[in-house]
Order: sequence, then C-alpha cells, then structure tokens
Amino acid sequence: MADETQTPTTVIRNDPWYDSYAQRADAMRASEIRALFAVATRPDVVSLAGGMPYLDYLPFKELSQLIAKMLVDKGDQAWQYGSAQGDPHLREDVLQIMELEGIKDIQADDVVITNGSQNGLDLITRIMCDPGDVVLAEAPNYVGALGVFQSFQVDVVNVELDKDGLVPESFEEAIISQRKLGKKVKFLYTVPNFHNPAGVTMSVERRPRVLEIARKYHVLVVEDNPYGLLGFEGQTYPALRSMDAENVVYLSSFSKIIAPGMRIAWMVAPAGIRHKLILANEASILCPPNMSQMTISTYLDNFDWRKQINDYRGMYKERCETMDAALRTYLPYCSWHKPKGGFYIWLKIPEGLDSKAMLPRAITAKVAYVAGTGFYMDGQGSDHMRLSFCYPTPEQILEGVRRLSTVMDAERKT
Ligand code: PMP
Repeated sequence: MADETQTPTTVIRNDPWYDSYAQRADAMRASEIRALFAVATRPDVVSLAGGMPYLDYLPFKELSQLIAKMLVDKGDQAWQYGSAQGDPHLREDVLQIMELEGIKDIQADDVVITNGSQNGLDLITRIMCDPGDVVLAEAPNYVGALGVFQSFQVDVVNVELDKDGLVPESFEEAIISQRKLGKKVKFLYTVPNFHNPAGVTMSVERRPRVLEIARKYHVLVVEDNPYGLLGFEGQTYPALRSMDAENVVYLSSFSKIIAPGMRIAWMVAPAGIRHKLILANEASILCPPNMSQMTISTYLDNFDWRKQINDYRGMYKERCETMDAALRTYLPYCSWHKPKGGFYIWLKIPEGLDSKAMLPRAITAKVAYVAGTGFYMDGQGSDHMRLSFCYPTPEQILEGVRRLSTVMDAERKT
C-alpha cells in the first residue's frame, strides 16, 4: 500500500503557519489508503488493501552481488548526478519492453525516466494544467492520480467505465459539456489495462474510437500503464501510444514488474511535451537517481526478466482465482467483474451497506480493504470496495474474504 501513499492525515493543531500555505496545499488531502496503513500492516490483520507487488521471485542475492560490482566498476556514474531525461542506457532498455505492447516506432531519445509514475503524473499535470482546468478521468479512478490532480487544483470530471473499460461516448459527451461550460479540457487520464481499482481492460475495439475522439477535439490522452504485462494468460493489448504517436503521452513503470523500491518509471511523449517534461523534471528533482536506474539496467541486462514477469503472472493468476472462488463461496450476494490481469477486484456490495462506515468493523474482525469512496473526488463509491490479491498468499486471501463475510453478514442483518 505504500505505493499509493500521499501526505499523512495528521492535523497539526495550532500550526503557526496555518495562514501562510499556498491554496494548492489546502487542496491536498490524505489518501484513504494512507490512513489505513498503520492498521493494515499489523501482523494479525489480513490486508486486502494494499497494491504492493509480491517480490519473492526477485533473485535478491545474485542481484545484490552484481549491483555491488556495478557500484564499484561504474562508481563515477552511479554515485553522481545524471541527466534530467534519464540514463541513456536505461532509455534504450525500455524500448524492448514497450515493443511487447506494439510500441515500435520510437528511440531512446523519445523516453523520459521519472521517479516512479507518480512523478510522471505530477510532471504532466504540472506542465498542462492551471487551477480550474479540467482533466477527464475514468470513475472510479486511481487514487494516486486523484491526489496529483487535487494538488494542482484541477477539476476532475468523471468518464464512465464499464466491463470493457472507458466508454467512448461518455468521453465525447464530457468534452462537449465541459467546453459548453467554457472549461479548458487538458487531457484524458486513462488506465486501459487491468484498471486500478476497477480491474477492467479497455477492449481492443474501443481503443481506436477513443483516439479518434481525442483527435477530433484535440484532447491529449495520458495513458498510464503499470499493469499491461501482467495479463494472467500472458496476453497483451496494443498500447494507445502504438496507434497514435501525436496525441498520447504514455507512462509505464518498473514498480509492478520489478520493484517499486527502485522508484523508476518512464514516459514517452510527443517532442514538444517531452521537452517540457524534461524541464519540469529538472526543476522538480534535477535528475532521476543514477543508482536506481543502473540497478534496473543491471537486472534487465543479466537476468531473464521475461521469465520473471511470467512467473509473477502465474502467481497473481492463482491469487486472483483464489479470491474469485472465495468471493463466490463467502460473498455470493456481492458482484464483480473477474479481472484478466493486474492486482484488483472491485467489489459491489449489497444495497444499504456502506464500505466506508463498515471499515472499522472489518478492522476489528482483522481484515482490511479500501473503501470505494477513496477512488472518487465527489463522495461516490460507498457501494464498492477494492480488494487486492497481489500481496497476501492464497491462504491469507481465503481467510481475509471469510472474515469479510462475517462482517458483511452481520451488517446485512442490522
Ligand atoms: N498508476 C497506477 C494506475 C498505479 O496503480 C500506480 C501504483 N499503484 C502508479 C501509477 C504509481 O506507480 P509508481 O510506483 O511507478 O509511482
């Protein structure tokens, strides 16, 4: 869950700087996930809340030995400042990863390395949006992106999502209605593959339609794709960026396929936007850390990363199957779309129940989830919860869903 943390919830009493903060600091809110962190990490609590990858397939020992050598052999680079655009070697490396989703027409110079995709989302919002501008986004939406949009005082306008991903008609309607209101629509933010939190994937048929609408109205598409290689059957989908190089900014990350602790991700953007992103990166962090970038390159150059991703897929598939089966057994009165990849099940709970109100009772029963309200800006979502199957073992998943059912069964009776 630490992958989605934002500012801690702490309210500082009698803060002498209370009147001095910028308006954008007022707009910052703690994520509901962060607020849960302390309880959900208690060893007696089964956490179905966090989006942390399970790292056991990483060859820690061998990798550490290679890194130790790299830090000596290439010490003058690894311990030094680097380029704001990112290490050229790693920018070259990521081309082979993007090729797996059909992005072929690019070179290392088209890539910008960031401190995780979270930094990338901050950069694109920073260069595109003034306060009051509109970002269109799937509802429910990735909580970390909402945090960024909030901190830049952006108006987030919901676009409908169904079992086939973003609904193109809803995207078009939102552009038209926002423009009628005189609003500047700056971009569409979409997570097309194995959505966080909804678990759904944009159908291959819808992809060209979404791009057609974006072109028609000259609206940029920000494609956030950290889960694309985690399809349970090894299936991949053509990236929106593979179909349109001019109107799409693409983000992907090593967080879910290798390790989030490295804080390394990348972006691909049309030349003008890329130039601004590099300037913004320079202003914000000077440069992404060489040590992390070179560690990732050392891993990619020396290990069979395709096999490792494949092993992860198998493991996540088993966990998803376990959760799906447990839900059918213990919570048959809930509904959900079984995901084909990724980390999450978006569970619709029976009418009359409130996932946010129920959470303290769930924690008492030693199970944690994220209430659906965390994934909306407008207070919706109490009829859903996000369950993650990535980190808990199958046994823990079974037990967690069983505990959840005791809480929900009791709520339904009251
Ligand atoms: N986008 C989405 C949809 C995510 O789920 C996450 C991580 N939970 C991120 C971006 C951020 O990833 P990173 O660790 O690269 O900052």
